[in-house]
Amino acid sequence: MPTPLSPLLMIPGPVEVSPAVLAAAAVPPPGHTAPRLIEAFGASLGMMRQIWQADAASQPFILAGSGTLAMEVAAANLIEPGERALVLNTGFFSERMMAILRRAGAEVIEVGAPVGEAPGMDEVRDALRRGSPCKALFATHVDTSTGVRVDPEPLCHLARAAGVLAVFDGVCATAGERFAMAAWDADLYFTGSQKAIGLPPGLALMVAGERALAARESRRAAPPPLYLDWHSWLPIHRAYEERKPSYFATPATTLVMALESGLGEILEAGIEARVAAHARTAAALRAAWRTLGLRTVPQSEAVTANTLSVLLFPECIDASLLPKIAARGVTVAGGLHPAVKATSFRVGHMGYTVTRPDYLRRTVEAVAGALQDAGAAVDVEEAVKALDT
Ligand SMILES: *Cc1c(COP(=O)(O)O)cnc(C)c1O
Repeated sequence: MPTPLSPLLMIPGPVEVSPAVLAAAAVPPPGHTAPRLIEAFGASLGMMRQIWQADAASQPFILAGSGTLAMEVAAANLIEPGERALVLNTGFFSERMMAILRRAGAEVIEVGAPVGEAPGMDEVRDALRRGSPCKALFATHVDTSTGVRVDPEPLCHLARAAGVLAVFDGVCATAGERFAMAAWDADLYFTGSQKAIGLPPGLALMVAGERALAARESRRAAPPPLYLDWHSWLPIHRAYEERKPSYFATPATTLVMALESGLGEILEAGIEARVAAHARTAAALRAAWRTLGLRTVPQSEAVTANTLSVLLFPECIDASLLPKIAARGVTVAGGLHPAVKATSFRVGHMGYTVTRPDYLRRTVEAVAGALQDAGAAVDVEEAVKALDT
């Protein structure tokens, strides 16, 4: 919720948070053994299973850190030096995953695609068959630099058929895009709190399935760094879920209070309704962008994310559009992927924002008005009206 002094934050994370989440975080920091904190932690773990649509045998983790910490945890627990990891490259964050995997000693097999597209399933299948077996397949559910979304379900099938782990970076997707961990038999799905989950930044959230946990158990190489190691955290998370105090390293207690509130809000209407709200929001915004003549970096609807828009500047307009949008009270983000860094800008529409049509109207008004300021012949009214069609 923006205050009168702060602009509306429409970047792909951090995002606007709800009044309830804001209120939940506005408390004196609870101790890590306070009954209220234990309840919030334990309840959040249970709600994560519901939102991830994971089974009872899966293990949710709540760690203090950003989304990148979750990526590190995935690599550190699942990959032993010398093992092969296949990575679908759909943008900046897939590249980061590859860098993390290489530091963990993995031999990375990359399956790429032109910017704005996703690799085909045949290519992935072929890559899995070539050479010695892979340990895991990694994909970025939504890459925040390109706005490209992959479909995790067929990737899970390919992974199962090849006997490899299926790991998904959901940092810009979890609770905003369809994901059914148990039904699709995925092994690990992680996110950061400040993206589609709709919370302040500071928590790495992940759910590991039984196979992923077993991979850590049977590790032969040296154990992962202590903070990254699931072994360090399992007893603590199990204790919290049984509503017992425990300690390994201090959790971000204030953020856990906010997490309980935010996850509860998502589950009030249910995860399906929340994902559907993201799809409706994205469709409305796409209609508005079309009336403004803005083209998207994703090359087809099938690979276009519902959590953000990555838009190309029109002819004769550049990044000087962003301060013009900011002057109208809305913050959007610049380009991130090197190939479209200077030619694109990004609008986040995830989390609490999808329940606020007024935020969408303000955003479209600001973008359309700024385009006019920059000399483009656009119709602000028509763009706003397109939101309702
Ligand atoms: C934001 C993001 C990350 C990194 O998360 P941080 O919280 O910035 O560390 C990783 N992957 C994707 C897809 C993201 O959008």
